[in-house]
Amino acid sequence: MVREAADPHRRRLPCGEEANLAKYLAAEAGFFAADRAVQTLGGFGYATEYHVERYFREARLPRIAPISQELILAYVSEHVLGLPRSH
Ligand SMILES: Cc1cc2nc3c(=O)[nH]c(=O)nc-3n(C[C@H](O)[C@H](O)[C@H](O)COP(=O)(O)OP(=O)(O)OC[C@H]3O[C@@H](n4cnc5c(N)ncnc54)[C@H](O)[C@@H]3O)c2cc1C
Repeated sequence: MVREAADPHRRRLPCGEEANLAKYLAAEAGFFAADRAVQTLGGFGYATEYHVERYFREARLPRIAPISQELILAYVSEHVLGLPRSH
């Protein structure tokens, strides 16, 4: 999806749909990967002395900022699916 978004962006074509979907899915994938890393390493995954705890904490951020996933869904609803504005 990131590649799908990068292509029109590189060619200066509209890519709001692709960019929003890529951002949403990348945030999900990053958080899932960090969560699995914590689970795999158990207590060492949670301990602040090791990097995985920080990865887990930082992987939470892309689900909130620079735009939250709920607002991405709102964008897709309105601008891709043609549904009424929700907010
Ligand atoms: C570490 C960090 C760095 C940042 N850096 C910058 C920066 O450099 N420049 C900058 O401009 N901003 C920056 N921000 C701000 C960031 O863009 C906002 O935190 C982000 O857009 C979410 O907005 P908010 O914090 O006001 O949360 P809110 O908008 O209050 O959202 C809280 C919750 O309500 C949900 N929500 C809000 N509105 C709706 C709606 N209409 N429908 C459904 N759900 C909704 C959200 O999805 C979220 O789950 C940064 C934030 C962080 C945490």
